[in-house]
Amino acid sequence: YIEVRNLTVAYGDKVVVHGISFSVAPGEHLSLLGPSGCGKSTTLRCIAGLETPTEGEIVIDSRVVFSSERGINIPTEKRNLSMVFQSYAIWPHMTVFDNVAYGLRTRKQRDVDIDAQVMSALEMVGMKDLASRPATDLSGGQQQRVALARSYACRPKVILLDEPLSNLDARLRTRMREEMKELQQQFAASTLYVTHDQEEAMAMSNRVIVMREGHIEQEGPPLEIYNQPRSRFVADFIGAAN
Ligand code: ATP
Ligand code: MG
Repeated sequence: YIEVRNLTVAYGDKVVVHGISFSVAPGEHLSLLGPSGCGKSTTLRCIAGLETPTEGEIVIDSRVVFSSERGINIPTEKRNLSMVFQSYAIWPHMTVFDNVAYGLRTRKQRDVDIDAQVMSALEMVGMKDLASRPATDLSGGQQQRVALARSYACRPKVILLDEPLSNLDARLRTRMREEMKELQQQFAASTLYVTHDQEEAMAMSNRVIVMREGHIEQEGPPLEIYNQPRSRFVADFIGAAN
């Protein structure tokens, strides 16, 4: 469960997120959709604790992790979430297997359980055969898949994804969409998915938020947004890639 209330972010005197509010229910997949520079990544980074909002409140799993009013700002590693960002940091000196196992090992699980979870996560991204390879040998798309496997291996309740499929070819992207949808339902995770690809947002989400210049322009189920765009901007953006 994620709740964002009145989130405002400014860099100097330039406000890039203007007091937006939304929530993501358990098991729900919500996409933040909008053109480049509209504030999607900034919003996600605030929820992750990588950016400090100017104002607002953020709740993750009924715990307030940020509140400007109450002076609360819980660090990233204590927010109990899993994330994959545009620049997917994986550890180049480790093998593919160890990259995915890393988070599980820090939780002190049994080795056999870790093995099974890592291999099933690698299987879902189609990287099982490369488990023992050093991550430096991988292409950009393969690294991106390792980052995804790592984030799903922990079976998180809250997942933040920032354009996680951007480096994949069309065929892989479609396959990963399906895999992610399935895992999502299996673990009843709250997923917040950032993309500027309207087709991806429409295909994967229960609900979509269309952002424009730091504001929420429209929010609703994919079909509703598609059939009843509230503004010319939404209509153009949704139709843009068709
Ligand atoms: P994209 O689809 O290109 O990734 P986005 O919607 O994720 O775009 P953000 O990265 O959230 O956009 O950026 C929102 C605005 O904030 C942009 O105008 C950007 O230039 C500005 N911005 C982001 N980070 C900083 C920063 N550290 N300092 C100053 N301005 C920033
Ligand atoms: Mg971005």
